[in-house]
Amino acid sequence: MIPPPRQPKFPAGPTYPYLQAPHPYFLSASVFPQLQPTHSTLPSSLLLSQTQQRGLHASPSRLAAISGVPAQGKVSSTPNAKYTIIDHEYDVVVVGAGGAGLRAAMGAAEAGFKTACVTKLFPTRSHTVAAQGGINAALGNMSEDDWRWHMYDTVKGSDWLGDQDAIHYMCREAPRAVYELESYGLPFSRTEDGKIYQRAFGGQSLKYGKGGQAYRCACAADRTGHAMLHTLYGRSLAFNTTYFIEYFALDLIMNDEGRCVGITAMNMEDGTLHRIHANNTVLATGGYGRAYFSCTSAHTCTGDGNAMVLRAGLPVEDPEFVQFHPTGIYGAGFLITEGCRGEGGILRNGEGERFMERYAPTAKDLASRDVVSRAMTMEIREGRGVGKEKDHLFLHLDHLPPDLLAERLPGISETAAIFAGVDVTKEPIPVLPTVHYNMGGIPTNHFGEVIAPKQMADGTVDHDHVIPGLFAAGEAACASVHGANRLGANSLLDIVVFGRATALRIADIAKPGDKVPAMPANAGERSVEDLDKVRFAKGSTSTASIRKKMQKTMQDHAAVYR
Ligand SMILES: Cc1cc2nc3c(=O)[nH]c(=O)nc-3n(C[C@H](O)[C@H](O)[C@H](O)COP(=O)(O)OP(=O)(O)OC[C@H]3O[C@@H](n4cnc5c(N)ncnc54)[C@H](O)[C@@H]3O)c2cc1C
Repeated sequence: MIPPPRQPKFPAGPTYPYLQAPHPYFLSASVFPQLQPTHSTLPSSLLLSQTQQRGLHASPSRLAAISGVPAQGKVSSTPNAKYTIIDHEYDVVVVGAGGAGLRAAMGAAEAGFKTACVTKLFPTRSHTVAAQGGINAALGNMSEDDWRWHMYDTVKGSDWLGDQDAIHYMCREAPRAVYELESYGLPFSRTEDGKIYQRAFGGQSLKYGKGGQAYRCACAADRTGHAMLHTLYGRSLAFNTTYFIEYFALDLIMNDEGRCVGITAMNMEDGTLHRIHANNTVLATGGYGRAYFSCTSAHTCTGDGNAMVLRAGLPVEDPEFVQFHPTGIYGAGFLITEGCRGEGGILRNGEGERFMERYAPTAKDLASRDVVSRAMTMEIREGRGVGKEKDHLFLHLDHLPPDLLAERLPGISETAAIFAGVDVTKEPIPVLPTVHYNMGGIPTNHFGEVIAPKQMADGTVDHDHVIPGLFAAGEAACASVHGANRLGANSLLDIVVFGRATALRIADIAKPGDKVPAMPANAGERSVEDLDKVRFAKGSTSTASIRKKMQKTMQDHAAVYR
């Protein structure tokens, strides 16, 4: 059952605190006194060192860049001979500050929950910043459109393996999500008459596949993720989220009833260990592209949230569903967005043939990613590749008008020049299918609640059993809107829709200030043990060489064809 749509709660425009306050870089203590350390307010027995007690981060410049409330904690009474552990208590802790994490943290703080957002990166360095092509929504700005056609394409694109309730929810909410981003100030590209511009993207059709190519992908040139992440971060500062920046989340803390009651984390700057005790924990830690040797995602996309869930004895869903993007730059792995083919780019083999006409006579170069990646791999395997080794193919943009390339694909033109050494107005870009997206992840329902199968007293299995206190959103999660294959521009949509959904769900089932269930007496001990195992290991093999071996194994044995 899909719940009825909910109205987003926007604070009235003119009263946005961030519009009234001076720019955060120029904050003074009188404007945001909460940024100042608060030594004197704590009893002396709980006083931490100055390093431990400074609000968000030591560096004054970082402190000034953030207008949230400071992280405050107290030294844990849990005995641990080796380390001081600092405890914090929140209504909600969100792990991750990419698009999904920021949207979830913002929503929870807006609903009045005392919210912490823990991130190993500064928020605007999260991988969402790299997304190029755009975000799908049936706005109907370029032609008639309908969210049900978007839903049909997503179900079909998922190879019919997606969860149709979740897809229904995502596609129906998509226009609302895009207009919400617009209202936050995301600088979308525009049509002549000022509407949000929408480009063609692979796998998008009109009239349930019968009406031809849809123009459904809203974009900010070819830097949509960059625009989105900066917009969301700016907007999130309007709410009182406490940011734990450059803190590395280690493990979930589960109590004896199987409820999640927070996380352990390490401050990467000073090595202090923290337990963040919370009623609701949201994992938004992104994908695990870096399980492979060559991928389009950042070096930070290491699937930490998925590993935390596995270490807590919970399952992940469909981890083998890994998407290969057809056009990674040969040799470098950098992504050349599908938006290029949406703007008219075409793929050719070593014989100069537009081979996609053979594999997908209707959609051609805009067939879905799995179809194009398989076709490219077949061309190469059958000896029709390009280059000395005939091991890649060409993406041509050189037939497109240079001013269109400059206006719609400026980042791509630059990336191709830097990483492939080609001038896209004159030469083709050498490309190869490259690991790009993880459809699988932490299983959730369409509210973002983590689920796991549970054996019931009558012997049956409840496959949708909700793990209390635990949520997941974004690429780390698997609401299964992408099934076995994600359609381009459906992930930026997924992160904002389900980031928001988790916050709405928490507001439905919990209240700010609800008592947080106690942590088990040994909470965090296992994290310390694991940390020490690595810290004091005496072996001669470096972490980097083990990682490389594992990445190469995945690349060699779990590629397009396995
Ligand atoms: C090159 C490229 C281009 C893309 N273009 C598009 C596009 O045009 N349209 C589209 O829809 N999708 C696109 N995608 C996919 C999309 O960008 C991602 O799926 C999406 O941005 C993921 O967002 P997220 O919030 O889930 O994770 P991320 O943005 O990766 O954020 C993860 C967050 O988790 C934090 N984190 C991780 N581990 C820990 C830890 N242990 N402790 C603390 N914090 C942690 C990080 O600091 C970060 O803040 C693209 C992907 C790539 C690789």
